[in-house]
Amino acid sequence: MPISLYNSLTRRTETFAPLDPQRVTMYLCGPTVYSYVHIGNARGPVVFDVLARLLRRHYPNVVYARNITDVDDKINAAALEQGVGIETIAGRFTAAYREDMAALGIAPPDMEPCATAHIAPIVTMIEKLISDGHAYAVEGHVLFDVASYPDYGKLSGRDTEELIAGARVEVAPYKKNPVDFVLWKPSTPELPGWESPWGRGRPGWHIECSAMSATHLGETIDIHAGGVDLLFPHHENEVAQSTCAHGGKTFSRWWLHNGMLTFDGRKMSKSLGNVLQLHEMLKRHPAEALRLRLMSGHYRQPLDWSDAAIAQSVSTLDGWYRVLRDLAHVAVDTAQLPVPAAIEAALCDDLNTPQALAEISVLADAARMQGTPEAKAVLLGGGALLGLLQQDPEAWFKQAGGSEVDATKVEALLEERRAARAARDFARADAIRAELSAMGVTIEDGAQGTRWSVAKT
Ligand SMILES: [Zn+2]
Repeated sequence: MPISLYNSLTRRTETFAPLDPQRVTMYLCGPTVYSYVHIGNARGPVVFDVLARLLRRHYPNVVYARNITDVDDKINAAALEQGVGIETIAGRFTAAYREDMAALGIAPPDMEPCATAHIAPIVTMIEKLISDGHAYAVEGHVLFDVASYPDYGKLSGRDTEELIAGARVEVAPYKKNPVDFVLWKPSTPELPGWESPWGRGRPGWHIECSAMSATHLGETIDIHAGGVDLLFPHHENEVAQSTCAHGGKTFSRWWLHNGMLTFDGRKMSKSLGNVLQLHEMLKRHPAEALRLRLMSGHYRQPLDWSDAAIAQSVSTLDGWYRVLRDLAHVAVDTAQLPVPAAIEAALCDDLNTPQALAEISVLADAARMQGTPEAKAVLLGGGALLGLLQQDPEAWFKQAGGSEVDATKVEALLEERRAARAARDFARADAIRAELSAMGVTIEDGAQGTRWSVAKT
């Protein structure tokens, strides 16, 4: 089944065909590690994780890179304020980022290049841009000369003339043109810097993605992905740098952009005070419910975030895991799970995750009614392609919010309740049920004994 993807570059949905089917390359712009990321920053990693899983089913070798921006004015400011080196700040938040991504069930990318480890290729690329007349050095800065690249604005659909006319009065008089952007900038002694032909300084943000992508994936890559907020200027600038440094070669053949998150219908922003840190949310909600919510809308559309939407995702997972818990005694080979055709078809249709999730519900209903190993296996197989339903159903029901309750204590109380009931001490048995209920634990007495679960929201 061919994979169709909407390409921002051509503004059309096209059948995906890699340049080299033996080595499919994909690059996703990663985080700037000066703090914890917000929940909106997790949408791209989740949906492009699903894309990477789909590509790996179709091609033997997929190389997926997601970078870490570890030198940046915000990191520098945090380091100065705390009196530590930038590597301390970057190290701390890179570790937190990896931990949070893992909690969301995002498989680690094949490589995670960081800017400070690529200063040499960045400098080489800038030198090439200068020697080919696409960049100029002035007062310790190097700027990309936008006028030297007539296709500037093509990716984001902007007209260079209009951009120039609309540019604010330039505060940097050394620029030839107000839209020229920084490739290299000078560092004062207290700021991190590296020696370069233009003096001690540091790279601008855009150039790192061009240099790292070329270093690890090649001069032309198959897919470049990121949030739609990066389309301009970041991705436009990446195209300009890479195309001009590589003699006009296409930089990325497909450009994929995910839509932004809104919060109760409003844009998420620091000034509105509604920025939700992923790290905090993972303490309060089951990670799998956050993952499910992040893929519940089509990736190109905006996605609204609310407590009610998270509760809905928890309830959906409760339903699916209830089916799996009821089928706990039905053995399936989890190493050989089949992928249901309907889910594969939905994902091949420009990563239609809402459709794929609707198919999971159909499969869960079928598994509940049929109760066969085959029906359970396709439900788990569909879940695996989406990165869902891979935990023990009992573990799902025993976690409250983002953490597990004290299962030993619950089991001890249940044992005491069994003993009380056996001794016909119903007052004590009821008191224990009330105590469990106060802990958020619901119990169900059934043929297979007493089951319990914890309220999550
Ligand atoms: Zn980037």
